[in-house]
Amino acid sequence: MRRVALYIVVILVAMLQACGTAPKGNGKILFVSIDPLRFITQQIAGEEWSVQTFVPKGSSPETYDPTPSQLVEVSQSKAFFMAGYLSYEVQWGERLKENAPNVEFCNTAQGIGLLNSKHYHGKEEHQGVDPHTWTSPRNMMQIAKNVCLVLSRIDASNKEQYLQNLDKLNTRLAKVDSTLTEELQNCKQKTFAIYHPSLTYFANDYGLRQLCIEDEGKEPSPQQLQQLIEQCRAQGVKTIFIQKEFNVQNAQVIAQEIGAQLVQIDPLNYDWEEEMLKIARYLSNETTN
Ligand SMILES: [Zn+2]
Repeated sequence: MRRVALYIVVILVAMLQACGTAPKGNGKILFVSIDPLRFITQQIAGEEWSVQTFVPKGSSPETYDPTPSQLVEVSQSKAFFMAGYLSYEVQWGERLKENAPNVEFCNTAQGIGLLNSKHYHGKEEHQGVDPHTWTSPRNMMQIAKNVCLVLSRIDASNKEQYLQNLDKLNTRLAKVDSTLTEELQNCKQKTFAIYHPSLTYFANDYGLRQLCIEDEGKEPSPQQLQQLIEQCRAQGVKTIFIQKEFNVQNAQVIAQEIGAQLVQIDPLNYDWEEEMLKIARYLSNETTN
């Protein structure tokens, strides 16, 4: 069924391209997979560029299927910045590239020390690699560097400007990093629970432990749930994070059992700085739900 759908998409793209839709505006269009990458890319690229997020708001980058018109839009852009290991990127990356041979595709995870998690990637070859690289300010610095390299290559005449913008952005990213370091090094809560393992890199950078409720993309069994409750109790978990894209019921059960606060976070927020600081505040208990 999926294969048939792919063929239909390819035919539709060919038809739409044959219609010769001209790129709008100055043609300075960049694509990014998700909003935190739009934040980074827009800071470096500046206002001259239109930076567009490929996965629409409310859709999960884990399960997203592009539309045919999106494939055409990508072919009219100059570059596409991917997180690198999101399920949709792994499944659609090659096809996107084939459809847009003149577009520069960048895996922004290049140079990042990748971590594994119980993250579900279907049958893909990158099974186990945690894709949420952007939930770490230190990773974001590497992502920003990768974005700057590509922009400086495809638009060399503005290289100096991009480097300056990168400098400014790095100052902001370093400030988030130092704030998080300060808030989290003295926090008593070293372990937190989360439905989907979105904070693997965050936890790793700040000496925290992430307990994941979801089991390789599936809801936990009653036995697993019971084990999790005991683990949370033993580790003194006070905060359970949930995301609106994922089931919250199991998290609610655990929160009730152990008397923890249930906190909704949005790791796909464009306002990345605020989101990172918010997560740290919840853990350091300055804010209660
Ligand atoms: Zn994920």
